[in-house]
Amino acid sequence: MPLSLQNQTLLPGRNFIGGEWCGSADDRTLSVADPATDEVFAAVPDSTAADARRAVDVAHAAFPAWRKTPAKQRAQIIKRWNDLIVSHVEDLGRLISREQGKPLAEGKGEVLYAASYVEWFAEEATRADGDVIAAPVPGRRMLALREPVGVIAAITPWNFPAAMIARKIAPALAAGCTVVCKPAEDTPLTSLALVRLAEQAGVPPGVLNIVTASRERAAEVVDVWLDDARVRKITFTGSTPVGKHLARRSADTLKKLSLELGGNAPFIVFDDADLDAAVDGLMVSKFRNGGQTCVCPNRIYVQDKVHDAFVDKLAARVGALVVAPATNPAAQIGPMINARAVDKIERHVKNAVSRGARVVIGGERIRNEQCPGPNYYAPTVLVDVDASMDCSCEETFGPVAPVTRFSTEADVVAAANATPFGLAAYFYSNDVRRIWRLADALESGIVGINEGALAAEAAPFGGVKDSGYGREGSRYGLEEYMHIKYVCQGLLD
Ligand code: ADP
Repeated sequence: MPLSLQNQTLLPGRNFIGGEWCGSADDRTLSVADPATDEVFAAVPDSTAADARRAVDVAHAAFPAWRKTPAKQRAQIIKRWNDLIVSHVEDLGRLISREQGKPLAEGKGEVLYAASYVEWFAEEATRADGDVIAAPVPGRRMLALREPVGVIAAITPWNFPAAMIARKIAPALAAGCTVVCKPAEDTPLTSLALVRLAEQAGVPPGVLNIVTASRERAAEVVDVWLDDARVRKITFTGSTPVGKHLARRSADTLKKLSLELGGNAPFIVFDDADLDAAVDGLMVSKFRNGGQTCVCPNRIYVQDKVHDAFVDKLAARVGALVVAPATNPAAQIGPMINARAVDKIERHVKNAVSRGARVVIGGERIRNEQCPGPNYYAPTVLVDVDASMDCSCEETFGPVAPVTRFSTEADVVAAANATPFGLAAYFYSNDVRRIWRLADALESGIVGINEGALAAEAAPFGGVKDSGYGREGSRYGLEEYMHIKYVCQGLLD
């Protein structure tokens, strides 16, 4: 069934290059499927290297004028973009839910979350001040000026089709950069809708360009950008192997990079914690978007004394989750994004069980009258999980909560850090000395203490180690799109 929106212009089904909506150079298309049914309901261009090059040509040509546009004027355009996103929350929410599968309430929540970044960076645009430096020698005036880096390339994943675009494009525009973007192949429609609204908000032609492509052609498109010295920065959210590939491939042109990559978040519950709050925090952080977020707890450590009580409370809550298509207003967990995703979840659970883990609840695919499609997996709790299991080493990216019992703080800190990843970490404790010990000891870019919902436009989001580098959101997020120019004037006296 085709998707009908109140504002059908949000479904252009085309690339946007230099202010024009256009097909791919060879007219090939990419089908977009509903993850609830695998039914194809839309098509977008499957772009080529020629499309990618043209996007850079126009973005490069548009840069000098956009850069010189006063920050206040850029801010007004970005603010209008925010207003349009907010006023289209219904349509955009439905679009996200349809192509990504998250329940409608979460889809609409994501729209407002995305808009919060757009609004934030509209405001930050006017505060990108430089410094006047106290000169160490007489007769000189020394300045540190901030400048936009130039054309930036944004490559985004499918799990937050609106928020990932907003978090990258809004700060780029605010800084005075121009943009070429390739959204994820599973969820290209939301990004096209957001670009349509940016056009309506008054973003000038050439400043924001987007090309869609299939997974087969992703590298063809992105390689053009990696090799082109006019592209000065890559901002990427996705898997660690692709992030490392982008870092390697952009070395020859020494681009600036922001890489927000995979995670393997620990969630630690100490026996002095508020147990109900810990269960609440885990439900929010683990099961949002069906467990398909890079900050999802992937390893849950519970201290001996409270282990059994915690697991009982958790299993009761997990058993009550409603699994259903996004269109069902009661839905709390939708379908996974595609067959590859469900296969991975199934493989992780089977591997854990074969190595001695026990399924407390769930542990299987769901296909029934309420969930008639192929991509549903039951919310699951596993216990007796250990570090040798695949689910402890890799992101499961699904609604599976694997619980490991621990005895001492030293043991659990060592276990939590025994991973190449370092995006988010969570712990629950009421011991103030332990709280600060742990906040220091955990090797991750983000730490949640007695809190499961951490993301906010005002906060710096990003990782360490194999989870990447660079920060999105907050005042640090704007710096990623700017460099500092030192200007020194002599002969003042
Ligand atoms: P996931 O496994 O979650 O899909 P990926 O890292 O594979 O994560 O994908 C994230 C983004 O990177 C998507 O937009 C995808 O098209 C893009 N991508 C995947 N492979 C490549 C590649 N070789 N070169 C450039 N971009 C890629």
